[in-house]
Amino acid sequence: MGSRNGMALHWKILIGLILGVVVGLAINTAWDASTWNSMGIDDPSAWVKGIESEAVNQDPSATAHVARFVRNFNGFIGDLFLRGLRFIAVPIVIFSLIVGASSLNDLSKLSRIGGKTIGIYLATTAVAISVGLLFANIANPGSFVSTETRDSFAAQFKDQADEKIAAAQAPDVWDTVLNIVPKNPFEAIAVGNMLQVVFASLLVGIALTLIKREKATVVIAFFDAMTDVIIKVVEIVLLIAPFAVFALIVEQIAELGLEILGSLAAYSLVVVAGLATMMFVVYPLVLKVFTTVSFGRFFKAISPAQLLGFSSASSSATLPVTMECCEQRLGIKEEVSSFVLPIGATINMDGTALYQGVAAVFIAQLYGLDLTIAQQLTIVLTATLASIGTAGVPGVGMIMLVIVLQSVNIPLEGIAVILGVDRILDMCRTSCNITGDCMVCAVVASSEGAIESPEQVEARLNLPMDEDPREDGRLDR
Ligand code: ASP
Repeated sequence: MGSRNGMALHWKILIGLILGVVVGLAINTAWDASTWNSMGIDDPSAWVKGIESEAVNQDPSATAHVARFVRNFNGFIGDLFLRGLRFIAVPIVIFSLIVGASSLNDLSKLSRIGGKTIGIYLATTAVAISVGLLFANIANPGSFVSTETRDSFAAQFKDQADEKIAAAQAPDVWDTVLNIVPKNPFEAIAVGNMLQVVFASLLVGIALTLIKREKATVVIAFFDAMTDVIIKVVEIVLLIAPFAVFALIVEQIAELGLEILGSLAAYSLVVVAGLATMMFVVYPLVLKVFTTVSFGRFFKAISPAQLLGFSSASSSATLPVTMECCEQRLGIKEEVSSFVLPIGATINMDGTALYQGVAAVFIAQLYGLDLTIAQQLTIVLTATLASIGTAGVPGVGMIMLVIVLQSVNIPLEGIAVILGVDRILDMCRTSCNITGDCMVCAVVASSEGAIESPEQVEARLNLPMDEDPREDGRLDR
């Protein structure tokens, strides 16, 4: 991943991100500024934000042509990259999971890994919501917002909030579990329903271990080769990652309502402090207790995935990179990562869960409601359940929040109040979601002896690609 020659990929992505923030802020704060107007541009943010503005699109001046080109090219690069990642996400899960499952010689190992994975995911999600609830109860962010500000945001974002409310559907435990089994595997693949794809791939992988070996070998060899092909595609797509991160971030920061962020600073800070606690206190502790992986090594290995998660606000789109980071840079065996990570991208959303805890208490405070311990426990349960089966895409956490608020009768108008800062918090929580997935993957892999030592990773990364010992051994693992 770019570390064999030249600057390592995570540095390039970080540079793209920082430049994106700087340029984005410049555009954001230059809104209505006279310097832009004197260049013939009335609404500088519109050029980069891609907002369809008649005046902008019809302006015949040369500056306008250049600015239009910049805006369109920026949008093009960001979307191209996200499309590339989405293109890879489903095939990489199918191919690597079939190979992984078919190489497990006994089913008891699979159920053991499955049990651990789901158990740890649910436990960390519950811890995350509890951290969120605790922080919000202590910091009392609702007391920093006046009733006027609350009502003005509620009115300003009402339409967008109504859309989110309409999209929310209360989960039913039976349906949630039943929905993991696809009626038609090809439909699951076509629509990218990750849990169903995982289920179908596992079933095929297991069935391959049960049919005649001569027949199975051909099929496994095919999927094994396809896994390598897809990993190559990931590397190709990642070539534009630093530019795409720049493009995605500029757009978001240019659009960010800085004044709104100011009014909701206390709330936003509580969310960010909670996420930081998960990433820098809870996860390192878990890693220390259950693995031999140092946090420094862990962080360095998964940083490209964290940065991409931040820029794209989608753990599903980042999945191919998360898998590549865990397998190649952290040295986790594919049989564990190809199972644990796709499930994590769907059911494990620690950052989102934490944010829901904070948001629920914050909105309750805004409307002068006191949540009882029983109501807070209901929030923990509802948020954990709501996170299962919801794909990791931008903004989905807010839709799940509707369900959480409904479960304890908190006014849904509160959604509109926090909508203005949702995107930036979405970026932060997605990074935490991805870190949580990788942490659980490292814990499960360590407990199964399926993770390389730092020396083994180092030695492998320094080999030319065709001498990678893992290239041949896959079928025998
Ligand atoms: N965007 C988040 C993710 O993809 C989900 C959310 O909190 O909205 O993980």
